[in-house]
Order: sequence, then C-alpha cells, then structure tokens
Amino acid sequence: MSPSTDSRLAADLLIRGGYVVTVDQGDRSFFGDVAIANSTIVAVGANLNVEAKETIDARGCAVMPGFVNCHMHETLDRGVFEDLPFTTWLNDFALPKDTAHLPEHIRASALLNQAEMILNGTTTFIDIFRFPDEAAAVAEISGLRAIFSPQLIDDPVGPGESFESSLAFIERWKDRVPDRIQAWFGPHAMYSCTEPTLRKVGKVARELGVGIHIHLAETPFEVQWVAERSGGKTPAEHLDNLIGLDSDVLAAHCIEMTASDMDLLARTGVGAAHCPTSNAKLGNGIAKVVEMQSRGVKVGLGTDSNMTNNNLDMFEELRMASLVQKQQLRDPAVMSSAQSLRLATQGSADALGLGHLVGSIEVGKRADVIVVDLSAPHTRPIVDFGRTNIVEQLVWSANGADVRDTIVDGKVLMRDRQIKTLRINDLAGQVDGPLVDLLKRANVLEKRFAD
Ligand SMILES: [Zn+2]
Repeated sequence: MSPSTDSRLAADLLIRGGYVVTVDQGDRSFFGDVAIANSTIVAVGANLNVEAKETIDARGCAVMPGFVNCHMHETLDRGVFEDLPFTTWLNDFALPKDTAHLPEHIRASALLNQAEMILNGTTTFIDIFRFPDEAAAVAEISGLRAIFSPQLIDDPVGPGESFESSLAFIERWKDRVPDRIQAWFGPHAMYSCTEPTLRKVGKVARELGVGIHIHLAETPFEVQWVAERSGGKTPAEHLDNLIGLDSDVLAAHCIEMTASDMDLLARTGVGAAHCPTSNAKLGNGIAKVVEMQSRGVKVGLGTDSNMTNNNLDMFEELRMASLVQKQQLRDPAVMSSAQSLRLATQGSADALGLGHLVGSIEVGKRADVIVVDLSAPHTRPIVDFGRTNIVEQLVWSANGADVRDTIVDGKVLMRDRQIKTLRINDLAGQVDGPLVDLLKRANVLEKRFAD
C-alpha cells in the first residue's frame, strides 16, 4: 500500500460529486462529497480523499439532510372523507372508523405511510395513532428513524389508546431499537383526555424520560372549551398547569396562541409542529410561525395525516409554510428559501429534541441524507456563478418524486427510486383491501360509497 493510500479516510459509504446543502449553522452549500462510517457522517467537503466500500455518484443532484416530519398520523384514510362539515366528519365517520381499527389495519397503514416517506425523502417522523406496536414493527424493518406516541383518548373511551396501553407500549419499545426508534406518550388533546390522565402522563413521562406529543391550540373550539373549564386560561397555560411544559413536549398546530403563550413555549423549550396544509384544509387559521420563531419558539414542520393533507411530501409542505406566511404578513421577504428548508429539517429535529443527532449534514451527526435528482425540466435552469440557485430550485420547484436515494443511519433505504427494505408490489391487496374492511367494520362504507 502506498503512503498516499494510507492517508485516505476509510468509510462505508461515499456520496460523491453532488451539490451539498448542509443546513448547518452557516447554511453552507458547495459542490462536494459526504463520507459516512458506522452510521455517522465522518467528512464533508470538496474532493475528499476517501477509501469507501460503496460510492454513490451524486453528480447532477443535490445532497441534503433528510426531512423530519414532526407531526403525522399513519392512517389509511386518504381520499375517503373529503368535503364534509366538521361535526359530520368527526361523529359520523372519524370516531366510528377509529374505534373499528384492528392491528392489521395499522400494519397496512404503516407500510403505506413509511413506503411513501422513504420515496419522498423523509428520514425521521413522529406518529400519533393506534396500535403502535404494529407501526413500530414496520419501522424496525423499513429503517426509518421514528418516534411513536400512541394516541391516547379516554374521553370518550374507545377511539384511541388508553393510559395503560400507552404505558405498556413505551415499556416494550423504549430501549428496543436504541437511537432510531423512540416511544413517547401521545395524549390526543386536552378536550379528549381527562385531567387526571393528563396529570398522570406528565408525571410518568418524566419518571421514564420520554416525551409527550399533543395537539394544542388548533381551533377556536378548543380555546373556548379550555377557557370554560379553567377559569379563562389559554390552552397553552392550562396544559402547563396540568403537565408542566418542558423541552420534552411537542405541541402540534399552535394556531390560537397569544404573545404570552408564545413566550411560555419559548421559555419552557416546547417544540411546536406547524402543519399548514392540514390547517388550510380543515378551515383552521394560520399559525404565526414568523412571530413564534422571533420569540424563540422551536418550530418544526409536519404534514399531519394523509386524511388532511393528502400526501406526506415535505417539499410541498415547506413550500406551503412559506407561502401562507408571505400571504398572511403581506411580505414576500419573510420565510426565505433557506429558512423554509431549515424548518423542514433542522427546525423539526430541534422541535423533537433530536437536533444534536439529525437535521443537517455535519461531521458527527447521524447519516440521514437524501440525494435529489435535479435533471428534470421542472428543476431547471440551474445557474452556477459563484453562488448557485439550487436551494431555490429545491424549495420552490422540487417534489418528493425527485428524491433518488434515501439514507438513514448510513443505511441505503432507497437507491435509484427502488425501496430496499419494504415490499410494496401489491398495493390493491396490501392497502386497498384493508381499508375497505376497516370501513365495513365501522359501518361507514355504504354511507360513504353507495350510489
Ligand atoms: Zn394531528
């Protein structure tokens, strides 16, 4: 072996020659390479001198941190309950359907949702729904980084998990797949859980060292409901009284927030999951993302479920996030391209308490990286004149189908659009059949689909 070969860095995987968008503190972007060893990024730079077991040629592509989806439910309900008034949707369809779930429906749903996420470049997600063992078992195989927070509903009893089933799940999964799969509590909302249950969740979550994921301040209904029962408190203030807000809490939506609510979230380190498409589709308001960020709240981005989105494409979601802020504030300069990309990656990772592990391409972080093909007409032209317009093309023009390769913990989950870990060769049998069965069990199939 020659001396020059001796000095080469050993790596498991080298992603060579792409346009690396780091989303690091300085938002550095450059043509170069990313070297990965033992699940970790070990070198980032131009023309790295690396001896790698495997090399991915990323010329003509962007190389960026995988997306972090910080609020979603793995459901089968895409395109089934559209355009209904809210109370009809909730009482006649959503609650009976949620109650009718069996573990096999969640298994099918997790397969569908996780395959979609690998295909569109999401590498970390947090799920809040039913029968979490089934979804976590799929994540064990899919290779995605995930947090499961069983959706606890005990008022009314039936459509969700109980405190006991949530606790048992956490005990089973807390340490089963270290670093990559976490188990949290997922009390659905203050209006669907009893106060004693919420207090117990707060106490036990701290004893176990696990997080708490809850819907918060999503609608005026919730604001009024909480105010009537708490002597005029806001949802954020009342939740603080019940569980004690802290950096282990992730609050989804955060639309109906006062300035002092925002300061409370910032002071306590609560993560806020912004879901602009879901909020628009359900006719809810617009979260004050720019103001929350300026007050120091950790804001991340989520798609919510495929029932209220209807896809899990984080490119679309970050674009939506930027558009609604620009429109709401009547200022095209707010939420820039770089800030939008950060919201969907490092911002979400910080909101989940995973910012030290993932969310950017930096030496020492876990290797959750995606390669995005820039060769299609809709992502051109590209200008390279000192600075390039590649970040702008990613934010304003790319979509999930442009993602070519998806890597989590240094493991290639998708290469050249082929998923390596999950088989989705019969979607009619794998997901259409289970959905029809679920709707039949809930007695809503005829109501929704008969002529
Ligand atoms: Zn939700």
